[in-house]
Amino acid sequence: MVTGDASYIKKINRSLIISKIIEHGMISRADLAKITGLNKATISVQAAELLAEDLLIETQQEHKNLGRRPIMLSINRQAGYSLGIDLDKSVITFTLSDLSGLALDTHSIEIKSSDYNLILEMLANQISHYKERCSHAPYGLIGVVIGIHGIVNNDETIYFVPRHQWKNKNLKVDLQNETGVNIYIENNANLCSFAEIVYKHYQSENLLSVSLYSGIGLGIMVNSKLLKGCDGYAGEIGHMIIVPDGLPCRCGNLGCWEQYASESSFMKRLAKSHHKEHISYKEIYDWLIEQDPVTYTLMKEYIKFLSYGLNNIINLYNPEILVINSELLRLYPNALEEIKAHLTSTVGQYRKLQISEFGKNACSMGACALAIKNFLEVKELSLSID
Ligand SMILES: [Zn+2]
Repeated sequence: MVTGDASYIKKINRSLIISKIIEHGMISRADLAKITGLNKATISVQAAELLAEDLLIETQQEHKNLGRRPIMLSINRQAGYSLGIDLDKSVITFTLSDLSGLALDTHSIEIKSSDYNLILEMLANQISHYKERCSHAPYGLIGVVIGIHGIVNNDETIYFVPRHQWKNKNLKVDLQNETGVNIYIENNANLCSFAEIVYKHYQSENLLSVSLYSGIGLGIMVNSKLLKGCDGYAGEIGHMIIVPDGLPCRCGNLGCWEQYASESSFMKRLAKSHHKEHISYKEIYDWLIEQDPVTYTLMKEYIKFLSYGLNNIINLYNPEILVINSELLRLYPNALEEIKAHLTSTVGQYRKLQISEFGKNACSMGACALAIKNFLEVKELSLSID
C-alpha cells in the first residue's frame, strides 16, 4: 500500500530524477543513482514509469572498444511543446520550444491598439493555432506563460499595465476559457531573471536581472527563490528616485531612475539632439561606428545615471551575478568597462557584472522555461540553448 508519505517521497524523487536527466542531457541509470544518492531499484522503477509515460527515451551509446555499452536516458524532447509570450507595448513575441527548452521558432506581431478584448482575441487565436500545431505530440501544447510589462499579483491576475492602462484583468482565466490550455501569467523582469538562471547561470543562487527597455524592471533571485514581495510587486526599481526634484515620471514622482536610464529615455534624448521623431537601434549603431560625438556624449551620461541605480541595487542585494538586459548596451563595446568604472564603492560588492546574451528574447525564453518547469513539476531546471 502506498501511504501519503510514500507517495510524497516518490514525487520528490521523480522531480529530482527528471531535473538531473535534463541537466546532464544524457545519463545512465548507474550515474543517475550516484548523482542523486537514490538506490538503483528506485531509479529503475521511476525510469520505467517515465519511459511508459513517453517523457523519457533510451539510447545506446556507441563505443569504439568492446565492452558493455551503457543505455542512456534523456528527456523526450518531442513529448510536448511550450509557448512563451512576451506581451510588450507595441510588439507581442511568441517563442515555441520543445521539452528540452530548445527554441524552435520565434515570431512577432505588431499591435497598434491597447484594447484588452482585441488583444485577448488575438492571443487566443495564436494560442489555438499553436495548440493545433502541437497536437501530434503525446502531451501537445503543455502550457503557455505570458510575460507582462506591468504589475502582476501573486495570484497571477494583472494589477496594472501602465502602457495599455489595463487595471485588474484576469488574462489567465480569460485565455484558459477561450483556449483550454494551461496559462500562466508572470512579470517580464521576473521571466528575464528566470531565463538567466535556467539557460546560463544554473549554479547561481543570488542573481539579479535588470531590464532597461521602455521602463526598468528588476528580477530578483535570492537564495534560489524569486523574490516577489507581499503582493507580487517587488522589483519596480525604475521608480527609485535618483535625482531630487528631477524629471516628472508617470508614477507621480519626480526624478525616477527610468527617466534617466531606460532605453526609451536615452532614445528620446538622442532623437531630440538629432532633430528626429524616432530613432532605431540601427541608427544608433551607425552613429557609434561613425564616432558621432553627440551620441557618445549622451551615451556616457546615460551610463553614469545607469550606474547610480546599479550602485544602489548592489548595496541592497550584494548579488553574485548582476545581469543587465539591454539591446542598447549590446551595441556599445565599452559599456561594461564604463559601468564598472563608476561602481567604485568599497562597500557595494558583486561577483560578476554581465550584459545579457539573450537581449529582448530573454522574456519569452524564460516564459518557455517556466511552462516546462510547471509541466514537469521540477524544483530545479537547467536547460541548454543548443
Ligand atoms: Zn516613477
